[in-house]
Amino acid sequence: MDAVTLEMVRLLSRRSGLARRIGEAKRGIGAPVDDAAREASLRSKVAAACAGEGEAAMASRLLNFLINESVQVQSDAAPAAATSHTAIFQEAKRLEEEGHDIVHMEVGEPDSAPPEHAAAALAAACAAGHTKYGTAPGIAELRDAAAEIESAHGTPLTRENVIVTMGARFAIYLAIESLLSPGDELVVIEPAWPAYAQCAMRAGVKVTRVRTTLESKWEPDISEIESAITPNTKMIAINYPNNPTGKVLPARRQREIIDVAARRSLYVLSDEIYAPYSLVEWHSALESGHDRTIVTQSLSKSHAMTGFRVGYAVAPPREAQRMARLQSLCLTCVPTPVQHAALAALRAEPPGAARETLERLRGLAPMAAEAGLEFDGPDGAMYVFGRLPRGLDGGEVALECLRRGLAIAPGAGFGGYGPFVRLSACREAPVLARGMDILNSVLSGGGP
Ligand code: PMP
Repeated sequence: MDAVTLEMVRLLSRRSGLARRIGEAKRGIGAPVDDAAREASLRSKVAAACAGEGEAAMASRLLNFLINESVQVQSDAAPAAATSHTAIFQEAKRLEEEGHDIVHMEVGEPDSAPPEHAAAALAAACAAGHTKYGTAPGIAELRDAAAEIESAHGTPLTRENVIVTMGARFAIYLAIESLLSPGDELVVIEPAWPAYAQCAMRAGVKVTRVRTTLESKWEPDISEIESAITPNTKMIAINYPNNPTGKVLPARRQREIIDVAARRSLYVLSDEIYAPYSLVEWHSALESGHDRTIVTQSLSKSHAMTGFRVGYAVAPPREAQRMARLQSLCLTCVPTPVQHAALAALRAEPPGAARETLERLRGLAPMAAEAGLEFDGPDGAMYVFGRLPRGLDGGEVALECLRRGLAIAPGAGFGGYGPFVRLSACREAPVLARGMDILNSVLSGGGP
């Protein structure tokens, strides 16, 4: 056993070295790290070398782990893309610190203040001494309030189903990291907010991407989802209203996806943080009654509380416990005073942040069309995701816009949609109009 293990370690180290050299070669010729055709070819060689089904399943999990390692080694060595939307955001902030005036259309952040009663509850919580460590899943009243809100989707829920998290981002991390194991697979429908795939990669989970297109109105093909599922697939991530496309799936199509997941006993991770930002009929995944549904929610967008870093996940009790254990390990609990602010926010009438942003989105869409962007009219969220005219590259256009005072998000960061850009509607109409003037000047090749 020792000899076999040591031999495996030596081979792994050799494989890692090869991956690094291949990464350098790919960088030299500007080739992407991911190579689906190579991967499929290696996968079929591995399957052919296995004796039976049990061995093939184990080998496939191991292969997922090895491929993830290679991608990680090669991505870590690659310079950070100057044109990811987070890189644009950081650079825009730096330029602002230098005194430049920047129109922010790269980030989805309501510009209104958080509800006054939430800010007051934060101060009151400190005055009342709610300043100590709390339990990992969160304070009971907040979990009860969240359970009551989410029970409106037809599945009766209790606080045992709820874990309060540091924003939806951490809820997503907890779900992927605590419920999946290295070698498992996660299906992501693209274009997608990048964190689902990034969290999975960190956890050694292989990401299977199902691409959608503007031509198909960003609706995934059910047969493509079915063929993306293997015996190692454990979860499928969905996000409607969608970031970046603003798409809301028709109820029937969303149900079909959940039914596929239910038939294969997969978790459905439904990121529903844009639910209040819907211009059309929207349905929570909780309506399906599928018992492996995990919903992530956040007060960032619904209550303009991005900096409070508070949200929650709804999950079956056993899964909620596993997520809470990991949260306990990582950060003990969400800051207690912040949880009291969130409770005050949930107990009050929903604020107007969503209504206002949707109004701005309605105003932004015709301006984007006039600029020559091709897109499907958003059903919700806060974005227009459009294809640039004349085959222009989203990264290059974003960099040129930034030089002229406009920050926008290149499409490449949402899963390789290079000719696209995402425009966020989170600013007042005159600011958006100023931003669109800059985009127009870049697209027409005019001077600043
Ligand atoms: N999910 C999606 C789809 C998002 O766009 C974002 C933030 N932009 C998040 C989750 C994270 O939100 P939070 O601030 O609650 O972590």
